[in-house]
Formats: sequence, structure tokens, C-alpha cells
Amino acid sequence: VRRKVVILGSTGSIGGSTLEVLERHEESFEVVGLVAGRRVERLAEQVRRWQPSAVSVADDEAAARLREHLGPDAPQVLSGPDGAASVTVDTGPDLVVAAIVGAAGLVPTLAAVRAGCVVALANKEALVVAGELMVHEAQKSGAVLLPVDSEHNAIHQCLRAGRMPEVQRVVLTASGGPFRGRSAAELASVSTADALDHPTWSMGRKITIDSATLMNKGLEVIEARWLFGMPAAAIDVVIHPQSVVHSLVEYRDGSILAQLGTPDMRHPIQYALTWPERWSAPSERLDLPAIGALTFEEPDREAFPCLDLAYGALDDGGDAPARLNAANEEAVAAFLDGGIGFNDIPAVIESVLAAEAVTTPGDVAGLIDADRRARRSAREVIARELSRR
Ligand code: NAD
Ligand code: MG
Repeated sequence: VRRKVVILGSTGSIGGSTLEVLERHEESFEVVGLVAGRRVERLAEQVRRWQPSAVSVADDEAAARLREHLGPDAPQVLSGPDGAASVTVDTGPDLVVAAIVGAAGLVPTLAAVRAGCVVALANKEALVVAGELMVHEAQKSGAVLLPVDSEHNAIHQCLRAGRMPEVQRVVLTASGGPFRGRSAAELASVSTADALDHPTWSMGRKITIDSATLMNKGLEVIEARWLFGMPAAAIDVVIHPQSVVHSLVEYRDGSILAQLGTPDMRHPIQYALTWPERWSAPSERLDLPAIGALTFEEPDREAFPCLDLAYGALDDGGDAPARLNAANEEAVAAFLDGGIGFNDIPAVIESVLAAEAVTTPGDVAGLIDADRRARRSAREVIARELSRR
């Protein structure tokens, strides 16, 4: 029997790569549900190709456009977070690929966890907002969280060599993004186009900006905290511009295991889809002599303050990571619109975090409310910044 798959965020970068991997293994997988935002033309093509039994989009307006594109033989078309959650649960998947960008992915990803599915997780923001709750719910339902994020996927692979009590620390690698080596003063005037020009990975726009600010690595530290149950003090970050070593695990005897590969998300996606097995893949092989040298350096925490803002929010706990994430999403959107400068991104996040004391909501509704408050506060800070000019 073929394994049933739902893809949340099917029209995105990870969603598209997931469908490419499934294309190679159609005899083993069946796509039963697709969820996307507003790119309905792309989604309509995918629906015709994969024939899922249900789909969901961001809102009613997008749903109406999708029905128009699909005509009379459309599957069930739902919308909004609840529509996405229904598709996730009602199609009875074995495996859910969580690849919506941002906190918008939280509700359907949590639904997949509560339904006890295997969840291939790319949507790191869902774990940043609600990591503790998500891990707790997974323990209750028997859901398995398999990391698709290349660093966490690398760590997952390296952890197969030992037992958790033997692990001393994990080390996340970061390319350093397009602005590695620049000072804060030089970063003040960089453009949106410069920031979108990532040296090693091709990804969606939001995560590409996060990679330039190092917030992506900060979010990944929080993601690692929940995926692996490691304290923040045992999660380190090192800059590795070649993006060949995807991350490392140090054991208590000082031995370090690393996972290496080409920077191609189809590797970690296939690993998660086929786990606990490892299947062959046609993709490009690493040519070590051609690479020649691998280098490592400390991150510049002054020029890229987002990294320590994330460590701080993790340390504060409660709703702090949810507010950090929401403020970051708003600031990145404003930067992409050309509204604010690159260095305003950490400044906005810092003011949003400072505006409220940390509280500890007991449920997902409380976390979603913290997200809303932080977005409102971020938009006020951004508007003030713009009017000051
Ligand atoms: P993307 O922008 O290319 O795609 C995002 C997807 O989410 C799209 O399908 C979009 O339609 C959908 N979406 C957005 N808002 C939605 C909403 N309200 N309701 C339903 N769907 C919605 O982003 P991406 O680069 O594919 O990244 C997706 C996630 O994977 C992010 O959390 C990112 O951090 C993570 N990730 C991506 C990469 C990568 O190589 N692209 C690597 C590691 C982790
Ligand atoms: Mg990553």
C-alpha cells in the first residue's frame, strides 16, 4: 500500500521540492491533501497532477479563485487555518509535510501532531511559537517529528550513532548569508535585492532574509531546543560559508560527528519521507577534492544581533519566542516592502520584546494571542520609524 501524504505549503520552495521527491517514488506515496496560501494557479496545476481528495487555501477569496480554475471536477476546497487543519486530519494521512512559512503553519501542524501523524517539519516557526506544547502533544498522540530543516536533519542523522545521555552539545552551522564579514555600519544601507541574494541556498523570500540577519539561525536554536530536548547552553552556532557540513553533534568523549552533503533540500526531504529507511537518490554527489577546504568561524554577534535576541527569548521562555517570531515576521515583511532598513529588523524586534513582560500562556490560544499583540506592537514601531524619516 502507498503511504498517504498531505503537504502543507505545497506551492512554496519546500513544497515544490517535496513533490519532486514524490515524483521519483510514485509507487510508494499517494498525495491525499494539499494546502497553500494564495498562489492558486500553481496549486490548480498540482491538483490536476496529483488528484488529492481535499485542498485548502489561505482565505475565501483564494478558495473562490481556485474553484474557478479547477471547474466542475474540483476536489473539496476549504480555507483558512481551520480548513488547513481539516484537510490535514480528515484525509487520514500517514505523513504530513509541514512547509507553510511562518506562524500561519501552527494550527494545521499542531492538528497533524494531535492526530498522531509522522510530521516532516520544515515550518520551524511553529516550533518557535509553541515548541513545548507541540512536543507534549506529540508524546500524548505518538506523533513523530522528523526535521526537514537541513541542520536539524543532519543532527537527527548524527544522533543515530549514540544515545542522548552521551551527547554533550549540538553545533548548528550557518552559511553567514550574503553579508558575512560586514559591520553594522555597512549593513545600514544594504538593499532588499542584496539581502535576497543568498550565496549557497535557494529558498523562499522570508527565510532568505532571515538567513541574512542570522535570525534564521536564532529560530533554529529554538527549534533544536524542542526537537532534541537540549538546553540552550548545549546548542552552539558556527559560521561555515561553504554549506557542506550541515551540522554536528559532539559526544561526551569529545568525538564530533558531522553530516555533509550538497546544499539541496531534496536530501533532507527524502530522508524524512523514507525514515527509518534510507533510499537511493539521483542527486549530485559531493566532490571533496573540488571543494578543497572547509572553514569555520565565530558568528559576529554585534553586527547580527538577531542571533542573541533569539537566545534571549529562549532563555525568557513563556510567550517570548512567540513574540520574537511575530515581530520578526512583521519586520521582515516591512523590509521586503522597502519600508524599513536592514538594521531596523532587530531594532523592531527588540522594542516589541521590551514592550511587555513575559507571560506563560497555558494553551495554543494564548500563544496565538501573544503573536497578535506582538504583530500590532511591531506595526506601531514600524509606522513610527517610517514617519520619523
Ligand atoms: P515559501 O515562501 O517558498 O513557501 C511558503 C508556502 O506556505 C507556500 O506554499 C505558501 O502558499 C504557503 N502559505 C503561506 N501563508 C499561508 C497561509 N496563511 N495558509 C496556507 N498556506 C500558506 O517558503 P519556503 O522557503 O518553502 O519555507 C517554508 C518553511 O520551511 C519555512 O518555515 C522555512 O523556514 C522552512 N525551511 C525552508 C527551507 C528552504 O530551503 N526553502 C529550508 C529550511 C527550512
Ligand atoms: Mg536551516
